[in-house]
Amino acid sequence: MPDQPRQGGCLCGAVRFEITGPVLYSCICHCQSCRKASGGAYVPWATFEKARLSLLAGDMQWFRSSPGVTRGHCPSCGTTLTYEDEDRTGQIDITVSSFDDPTQFAPVAHIWVEDKLPWVCIDDELPRYAKTADATAI
Ligand SMILES: [Zn+2]
Ligand SMILES: [Zn+2]
Repeated sequence: MPDQPRQGGCLCGAVRFEITGPVLYSCICHCQSCRKASGGAYVPWATFEKARLSLLAGDMQWFRSSPGVTRGHCPSCGTTLTYEDEDRTGQIDITVSSFDDPTQFAPVAHIWVEDKLPWVCIDDELPRYAKTADATAI
């Protein structure tokens, strides 16, 4: 059901969103920036066309976390919701865990594995990339 709208939101419920259209990519990011932004050991992301995202409630707050990168979070509870990179025009990444049904976005790769915490053990067969998935898998 690729075109069925999918909804999600932040922890406190102030921000609610809906996205339509196919998932373009899904990955687990181990980078330090994602870890800091979320407080977690890694962050699963799903990528969509930004034009297909609509806010149903609330508004997001934006933070420029590194050059060209803007992260969106709930201004009330701080839940990390989105990631946009100027190098990927028209796309937006959404935290898989903020969806009402996170089970539908299984990851296809691990990225920024060079930043991975030493006690995080990857035990799947997905491709792993030192940085982004543009390079060769390690
Ligand atoms: Zn919230
Ligand atoms: Zn990251």
